[in-house]
Amino acid sequence: MHLSRFTALETIIRRTEEAIDFTDTSTSNIASYFGCNVFGNEAMTKYLTEDTYEKLKDAIRAGKKLSRNLADDIALGMQKWAMDKGATHYAHWFQPLTGRTAEKHDSFFTIEPDGTVLEEFSGDALAQQEPDGSSFPGGGLRSTFEARGYTAWDPSSPAFILEVGEGKTLCIPTIFVTYGGEALDYKLPLLKSEDYLSRAALQVCRLFESNSEVYRVNVTLGWEQEYFLVDEAFYYARPDLMLTGRTLIGKNSPKGQQLEDHYFGLIPKRIYSFMRDLEMECHKLGIPVRTRHNEVGPGQYEIAPMYEEVNIAVDHNQLLMDLMDRVAVRHRFRVLLHEKPFEGVNGSGKHNNWSLSTNTGKNLLKPGSQPGRSLEFLSFFVATIRAVHEYADILRASVASASNDHRLGANEAPPAIVSVFIGDFLTRVLNDIAEEKLSDKKGVKEIMELLAKIPELERDNTDRNRTSPFAFTGNKFEIRMVGSIQNCAATMTVMNTIVGHQLVDFYTKVQERMEEDIPRDTAILKVIKEYILEARPVLFEGDGYSEDWKKEAARRGLPHLANTPEALQAYTTEKSISLFRETGVLTARELEAHYEVRVKNYILHMQIESRTMGEIAINHILPAALRYQTEIAENIENLQKVGIRDVFVQKELLNDLSENITQIYKKIHEMTQRRRQANQLSDIEEVARRYCYEIKPLMQEIRLYTDRLEYLVADPYWPMVKYREMMFMK
Ligand code: ADP
Ligand code: MG
Repeated sequence: MHLSRFTALETIIRRTEEAIDFTDTSTSNIASYFGCNVFGNEAMTKYLTEDTYEKLKDAIRAGKKLSRNLADDIALGMQKWAMDKGATHYAHWFQPLTGRTAEKHDSFFTIEPDGTVLEEFSGDALAQQEPDGSSFPGGGLRSTFEARGYTAWDPSSPAFILEVGEGKTLCIPTIFVTYGGEALDYKLPLLKSEDYLSRAALQVCRLFESNSEVYRVNVTLGWEQEYFLVDEAFYYARPDLMLTGRTLIGKNSPKGQQLEDHYFGLIPKRIYSFMRDLEMECHKLGIPVRTRHNEVGPGQYEIAPMYEEVNIAVDHNQLLMDLMDRVAVRHRFRVLLHEKPFEGVNGSGKHNNWSLSTNTGKNLLKPGSQPGRSLEFLSFFVATIRAVHEYADILRASVASASNDHRLGANEAPPAIVSVFIGDFLTRVLNDIAEEKLSDKKGVKEIMELLAKIPELERDNTDRNRTSPFAFTGNKFEIRMVGSIQNCAATMTVMNTIVGHQLVDFYTKVQERMEEDIPRDTAILKVIKEYILEARPVLFEGDGYSEDWKKEAARRGLPHLANTPEALQAYTTEKSISLFRETGVLTARELEAHYEVRVKNYILHMQIESRTMGEIAINHILPAALRYQTEIAENIENLQKVGIRDVFVQKELLNDLSENITQIYKKIHEMTQRRRQANQLSDIEEVARRYCYEIKPLMQEIRLYTDRLEYLVADPYWPMVKYREMMFMK
């Protein structure tokens, strides 16, 4: 369906008048339904025997494999629970490398050979499935003869019931692997990386007596999800939004976000109603969303939860994105999760707040007030910075995508250069340590006195610089480069792996010094000092948007990977391969395959955009401009008939229109040629580069001309919904 601009506009006006009010009274008592669709502790104690429940919890805690019998018992309880709640189907829910979620539904219902009707769900069905996954991307990991992918239950993330209309489905979080167990998804590497980091962090924790009760360190993630909402009618009236998630053309609105009157402004009724509905759906699934507000761009919003253990948080974010799509449709909106739906307007990110927390509930990145706590804080803090310095390129690669390319480095968005912001106070602390001579006792004593002051750190002081892609915000690191549509798992996997790797190194170095009879605190301080000196170039407190910073960063040797084809290459360097292999997170083959999927994904997105642009220009824009030209030509003819000679303006306008029409036609032709040439190449890296360096600039040029036409052509002739309409009518 394609709606004309004017039908869309009429629809919106009617819609705004008839705006539905979401008044579900049950929203007043969140506690009464929070998590009601999750097979969590409450449901488990009710539907599993005590023995089964304990065994399951033990297995999760120890990361052990479950026995067949145990799986059968759990399946039985889970099915009973789900059916009591009205579920008729079950599905293995997984996260293929395409970035969104996938599920294949099976009915509980079966008919036995003798005709008996049964509703069945076995331990086998819970534990493993073989979806016909041959069309999910798997890089080189699945040649056609072994095209199968398997999903395997991840007991550490609770099952849940998804309600779609009247239908209810029991969803089982799973990992997605090849027959040989190689990862075809984002989840398996994430789980491995968390486990690795957990063990590394535990070792470092054990250097400090206060941690005798600690047996596990968890990674915590609190994401902040930005998004745009547009009315469904606008969405249907813009082929580019429908097919690519962003506007490929469109002249900026005279009033955009300059006045910054949207940020934290009043939330309009229709939007508010959507938000409340969404929050309720989230709460039912145990997603602890808490914050809602307007963002900088007109029509842009944010939703954020309380932080959770990283595996759960990733699942919850993936689930949230699905819920957003579904709830939006109910409210006649479409959610735009693209990082840059509108040029010249703030893009959307997904800040990932990352920290480490012990099973005793201590946040290892929070400077505490107990004596000795500061040294422990500093160990984790500095190791993280050192890891980011060492592997900035891989971190950058984790957020590389065709859509995030439009955001990174653009206005109001983190730059593509990875640097770390830590605030004045901590900068001073690190400088003091770096400059101090640690050979004498007095030096150590002075530093320990300095460290004792860290708890005084004012939280607010650390959160000011919004231009940094990676910032310490008081008790966690905030990674701001992640794109709004991306799966957090890719970046979280890199974070866990590089920091884990650094902590292993840290522990080893401290041990070596202690074996030389250096006292523990001095040994730790020495390694911290070494790390600070090595990692200093990555620390940056200034304006990340400035041109000077680009030069300065180059001088410091920091990588500036401006686009996806360049950035992704960091995944397959020798250094990266050995990092992932040593840590056991990804084999070289898996890494290569994941790389290939990401490159192909880039190409496909660019290809779709380029084709869509061609169609819009030829089928929508040029016909409108030509019709307007005809009207002007007729106008000249008619004027001359009645004896008016002065048609200067009309002719200027005609020439102007012609000039732009010709350019668009020529450039589209050139773009198509180049696309054909690129598509014929077999080296996918080269194809990606062609799209990046040849086709993308042509698209930008074409946009200039179409936007110029939008300015010239009389409004009633213009076929595409305009920026001002999309942004301000809701
Ligand atoms: P605000 O910035 O609005 O004051 P916070 O700084 O408390 O709020 O939190 C911002 C985000 O950081 C939230 O999504 C929150 O869940 C997350 N967050 C807070 N503490 C942690 C932590 N220890 N680990 C991971 N994420 C956290
Ligand atoms: Mg924040």
